[in-house]
Amino acid sequence: MKIVLVGIQGAGKSTQGNLLSQELNVPYLSSGHIFREMAKEKTKLGRWLKETLNSGALVPDETTMDIIFEYLDKPEYSNGYILDGFPRTLAQAEVFTDRKGVDKVVLIDVSDKEALWRISGRVADRQDETLQAIRKRIALFHESTSAVVEYYQDRGMLVRVDGEKDVDDVFAEIKKHLGR
Ligand code: AMP
Repeated sequence: MKIVLVGIQGAGKSTQGNLLSQELNVPYLSSGHIFREMAKEKTKLGRWLKETLNSGALVPDETTMDIIFEYLDKPEYSNGYILDGFPRTLAQAEVFTDRKGVDKVVLIDVSDKEALWRISGRVADRQDETLQAIRKRIALFHESTSAVVEYYQDRGMLVRVDGEKDVDDVFAEIKKHLGR
């Protein structure tokens, strides 16, 4: 099964993504995690990614797609995947849907206020988790990623779950939407 998780930072995408990965026995892939690992490299690309991530800005579409498709083209993703953080712009959604396909897109809905509350309550062990970067990421979600939500809604592929409930309840709601 090919699933995309959409939601602002703090919505619980990685928690739900890992639960779903176990449940469906398909790999979980987080674009943010890939970029954070690459940003540790002492190369020109690594340093540039670090700067981009720390600012909260998006990595340009072409670079993002080059890197993410390199993963998705690997044999371990041929039976399905749970994607967290990709696609995040309309251009990414169009190319990705055409090239790789997707069964369901799950929007995990939490308010900006709840997300900021959750993020501020967890230990900041990441350099890209400054309040400024988080605010920028949330703003960009409303600016760019809402087009992704609309795109999948128009195609009847989007399901929306209330992400402000308990982890177990959110997971149960997602499973129900996936017919499990
Ligand atoms: P995340 O952990 O998903 O919030 O991603 C962390 C950072 O990685 C984002 O703020 C962006 O700089 C970058 N990033 C992750 N996924 C994407 C994407 N699909 N398109 C562009 N940039 C991305």
